[in-house]
Amino acid sequence: MTENTLDITQIRKDFPILNRKVNGNPLIYFDNAATSQTPKQVIDTIVDYYSNYNANIHRGVHALAQEATEAYEGARTKIQHFFNAAKAHEIIFTSGTTHSINLVANGFTAFLKKGDEVLVSAMEHHSNIVPWQMLCERTGASLKVIPMSKEGELLMDSYRDLLSDRTKLVVCNHVSNALGTINPIQELITLAHDAGAAVLIDGAQSSPHIKVDVQKLDVDFYTASAHKLCGPTGIGMLYGKSAWLAKLPPYQGGGEMIAEVTFEKTTYADLPYKFEAGTPNISGGIAFGAALDYLNSIGIEAIEDYEHDLLIYATKQLSEIEGVKIYGTSKNKTAVISFNIQGIHPYDMGTLLDKMGIAVRTGHHCAQPVMDYYKIPGTIRASFSFYNTKEEINRFIEAVIKAKKMLR
Ligand SMILES: *Cc1c(COP(=O)(O)O)cnc(C)c1O
Repeated sequence: MTENTLDITQIRKDFPILNRKVNGNPLIYFDNAATSQTPKQVIDTIVDYYSNYNANIHRGVHALAQEATEAYEGARTKIQHFFNAAKAHEIIFTSGTTHSINLVANGFTAFLKKGDEVLVSAMEHHSNIVPWQMLCERTGASLKVIPMSKEGELLMDSYRDLLSDRTKLVVCNHVSNALGTINPIQELITLAHDAGAAVLIDGAQSSPHIKVDVQKLDVDFYTASAHKLCGPTGIGMLYGKSAWLAKLPPYQGGGEMIAEVTFEKTTYADLPYKFEAGTPNISGGIAFGAALDYLNSIGIEAIEDYEHDLLIYATKQLSEIEGVKIYGTSKNKTAVISFNIQGIHPYDMGTLLDKMGIAVRTGHHCAQPVMDYYKIPGTIRASFSFYNTKEEINRFIEAVIKAKKMLR
């Protein structure tokens, strides 16, 4: 499909930030894998909440509390539908993917013992490594790594060999933030289940770009961060199958998560509230729902096609620049390009691009093991969204060529 399927000129009008200048040049925002920009529909939702119905949820009988509760629970239903979960109570509001993973890792302390194994892929974000290392330290279980190829694809034969009756949990990202690889998680999940293991998929990088159906995947846990989905920071979700969430002990204690409290004993609230202690990010939750409405109004399939087009276009042009090496060359990729230019430190390139108004990320992208694998300190990462254009890519390519001349 081509650009004609989406009215990008119109879409860009929804994002006030895209009008600003950086260092005297129109902003080109290619750091979408770190966080996405926010459309005015979402900004307006937050303003509307604080202007018109700011109140604590679930407890009050007054009108504002009821309106806030309705909007917050309405957002939970929107998230349920976006990911096609069977039940609204399978969606837990968290502060984001990191919180979601920690919630599950903490709960699994009750289920693991010495000799058990947790499998993690070689291309994970630190937030899908460290909580599992901490879990293994607490329980005596061991962490095993599913290796990857130079192209940035999981070695599925090695994965099959690693699976055994000791495997209790398999954790993997759906899409790698460092490489853009879309992992074959359907197969990964089926194989894990055959071995009797549960699966958590980190969806921080997939949910903004490709259609996700948690029931079809039959995944046990799935995570997302609103700030990568055109929503605000500090809010996200954990999807868990009812049966798992019922078994999993609560993560934090406090208000909202209880049924009854005495000094002798406390009983916990039903799902999802068992995992939602304290006053949540109410405006954030409601705005998360508004962000999903916004993405749905464009259509996630149309976004996927358009962004794929940008990826192919930019990859081709970038590859033609002498000395460029792209990391992550899997056939199945989202619109993330991690690259280096021979003899140039990624940080220097990032700094010069910023001078020309172009925002890219440089460094290890919270995935140091991936950089270690390629024996590099980091990469320059350009990551696209549906509000980016080929004109912006042209300007980016010119800027890379110019910066390269200045640095060599
Ligand atoms: C961004 C990201 C995370 C961390 O998400 P937070 O919103 O910072 O909690 C985890 N995994 C992947 C793949 C990511 O891209």
